[in-house]
Amino acid sequence: MLYQSTRDRQVHIPSSGAILRGLAPDGGLFVPGDFPQIPLKAIAEMAALPYHRRAERVLAPLLSDYSAEELATAASAAYAPERFGENPAPLKALGGLTVLELWHGPTHAFKDMALQILPRLLALAMKKAGTDKTIQILVATSGDTGKAALEGFKDVEGTAVLVFFPKEGVSPAQKLQMLTQEGGNLRVCAVEGNFDDAQTGVKRIFADEAFARELSAKGIELSSANSINFGRLAPQIAYYFSAYADLLGQGKLSLGQRMNVCVPTGNFGNILAAYYAGRMGLPVGRMICASNRNNILFDFIQTGRYDTNREFYKTSSPSMDILVSSNLERLLYEFSGRDDVLIRSLMGELGQKGAYALPDGMLKSLRESFSAGWASDEMAAEAIKACFDEHGYLMDPHTAVGFVAAREYQRATGDQTPMVLVSTASPYKFSRDVLVALKGAEFTRALDEFACADALEEISGLQMPKSLSELKTKPILHTALTNPAGMKAVVAP
Ligand SMILES: *Cc1c(COP(=O)(O)O)cnc(C)c1O
Repeated sequence: MLYQSTRDRQVHIPSSGAILRGLAPDGGLFVPGDFPQIPLKAIAEMAALPYHRRAERVLAPLLSDYSAEELATAASAAYAPERFGENPAPLKALGGLTVLELWHGPTHAFKDMALQILPRLLALAMKKAGTDKTIQILVATSGDTGKAALEGFKDVEGTAVLVFFPKEGVSPAQKLQMLTQEGGNLRVCAVEGNFDDAQTGVKRIFADEAFARELSAKGIELSSANSINFGRLAPQIAYYFSAYADLLGQGKLSLGQRMNVCVPTGNFGNILAAYYAGRMGLPVGRMICASNRNNILFDFIQTGRYDTNREFYKTSSPSMDILVSSNLERLLYEFSGRDDVLIRSLMGELGQKGAYALPDGMLKSLRESFSAGWASDEMAAEAIKACFDEHGYLMDPHTAVGFVAAREYQRATGDQTPMVLVSTASPYKFSRDVLVALKGAEFTRALDEFACADALEEISGLQMPKSLSELKTKPILHTALTNPAGMKAVVAP
């Protein structure tokens, strides 16, 4: 199976090539040329398999230039118990919905689900391409991708990682996780600006052909570990199949019955993976896109107009503080009937005016599959408290945004279809905000981040991940700082 660019249908490259390059040369995103089908019978069989074997079965038809053995080895190493515990993607019942917890990996956010396996896929792609260059991965992070990429690529031969994060735009735990990262091939740099500034800076570097030639002469090729890389999306498709197989196994779904999903959304990667799962034959019903106060996607799904000319808010769910959701381009590609000319024009408008509007008809079909909801910080905090008080379940602020949107959707529509809420991070990555939600601001005033985490552990009984409590004593190793214009010089001084 070959991959196309969203801005040029005539591009045909194998999956390993798409993973190696990250971004298409025309600035578009790589997408599968067709959607291989996984029959219901094969989904039912997954119920009896461990997670890594489920992932293998979903990845095999998508990454068809990898051998079965390569994928089996990569998946079993990536999702090994010493990295993810016994179950990388467990389900928890919570009132009228089911929570899919995706934060049991090494950095405690769902990004690990892809970034533990992507370095293995990339190393294999390098081998297939026979490259002797160093692959320099550039990452723009809203908090969780950075750490997950650092962990995933640590000491992977032939690769180097440089993470740019918005200086004031991540949680204290997220920041410490990155600044204390060890590993000879890794760098971390703060950017004076928000996530969109960092992401735009990285995209600009990718688009700079003269710079690419300059690097190439030094034996360096750039690639991406952001969800613009299809190698991030493919492993994410697997956990939707996994959740469905588990619900089947638990008798909460019958084979073929639809499952709705609600996804706390930023760059639109996670929810796009749910859409792709549906295209591959998983009975996905409605997809609910949940936003925080930066509710540009909510407005888009209501009106068909995507407009970034608006205020940017810092919220208690920083990994969703995004105005330019890159992966929306992939969705539009599908909903336009793969009209690469239209996509080029819409993305051109986005670049020039910061806004575009969908042609008539496209919005209608989009709304047949997608709904949207959003929650303010206050609403998310109330949800954290209510879920804990009523069910003893502790959730992080991103998941709480999703919870509000899922409940609102169920209330407004009366839709009884089983609903899976994707839980994207451990509450301990956002200890202060979670504790404030439970106990009020006064209670936490004199407490530092670690004291907040300790209090949370005492109140909830949910164990704090060891790697997060250890941050307290780890030395800061990265102190670089740049403005957006200086990012290129950080890549190659
Ligand atoms: C990255 C992230 C999101 C947003 O996911 P997208 O794939 O970018 O939409 C939501 N929650 C958390 C905790 C994240 O780290």
